[in-house]
Amino acid sequence: MTAFWNQPDFDDHEQVVFVRDAASGLSAIIAIHSTHLGPAAGGTRFWHYVEPSAGMRDALRLSRGMSYKNAMAGLPAGGGKAVILADSNRTKTPEMLAAFARAVDGLGGQYITAQDVGMSEADMVSLSQRTTHVAGLPGQGGGDPGPYTARGVYLGVKAAAKRALGTDDMKGVRVAIQGVGSVGGGLARYLAEAGAELILADIDAARAAALAEELGGISVSTEAVLSADADIVSPCALGAILTEESIASIKAKAVAGGANNQLATGSEGRLLVDRGILYAPDYVINAGGIISVLRHIDSAGDDEINARIDRIPDRLEAVWQESAATGATPAEVADRMAQRLIGR
Ligand code: NAD
Repeated sequence: MTAFWNQPDFDDHEQVVFVRDAASGLSAIIAIHSTHLGPAAGGTRFWHYVEPSAGMRDALRLSRGMSYKNAMAGLPAGGGKAVILADSNRTKTPEMLAAFARAVDGLGGQYITAQDVGMSEADMVSLSQRTTHVAGLPGQGGGDPGPYTARGVYLGVKAAAKRALGTDDMKGVRVAIQGVGSVGGGLARYLAEAGAELILADIDAARAAALAEELGGISVSTEAVLSADADIVSPCALGAILTEESIASIKAKAVAGGANNQLATGSEGRLLVDRGILYAPDYVINAGGIISVLRHIDSAGDDEINARIDRIPDRLEAVWQESAATGATPAEVADRMAQRLIGR
């Protein structure tokens, strides 16, 4: 077996904790990538992995991603991630959650957890009965992070317009939004208010059509939205949508949206540069949500949260400037900046 330290996703993680509670059947992995900037913060994912090693890869990879995201969001937080390895029936009992909460508590605040795929708000509340190291709870203020993410993405889209189109006056700028849920729908409202022309798509076609009617835009099919006749495309639904094929079809001058992990394999940033398309690295532009969720780390109020979100455009601009100066892609530059911030 390859030594743990030699696994491709191991990136000098400070601590990786294997949690096993035989009585409840809990198996979990808590990965602490970095505490350089503050407690390692990141969600708990409850997922059935056919191979447990895939859960390990997720914990290692996603915790590093959280280090980068929290650093680039300017937060006093490091990066961590927990994975609860569910059985094929996805059995989740109060006893398992209690055992997991004890494990989080045992780390003494080095790891702060939050909601992620497979965990409900009620699950997070139940964890919080046994440990205080839970962020994003209903009573902590902020509520749904979607609106905060949407505002940050709107500011990022404006920054992209300024750099790629030469103006951040959104009047008449055509923006194609893929997915008009919490983030994409909120973004559409800000853009409509600013006078942009909206091209909306959602797999729930009625949802896109209703919003287009309300805000005065048009709706198109989900297949057509990325290649729409637009100035800016804003992916706000799924990840991995920027592929060789989809990038070849993009007519817009910039891609700036809230979806996580937009580059299909991570290397498509180069294809965007080659086509002269400006790219806003996803974890930089969509940081509004995590900025709000992690508010209790330093007891930040709404004014401070909004001030942090207001800095997203400057961070994007710094990324684009360094990209232009060095020839590295925006995604590579963002990772490098994050690495510098966490002392790596
Ligand atoms: P949501 O579920 O509220 O909205 C997603 C929308 O996308 C839905 O309306 C859905 O019907 C639509 N959709 C799904 N597949 C689609 C497809 N193939 N084509 C077009 N539309 C499709 O989710 P959300 O909270 O708005 O999140 C959207 C994206 O932003 C996700 O990638 C999420 O990980 C990311 N994100 C969200 C937040 C947040 O605070 N909510 C923060 C950071 C990143």
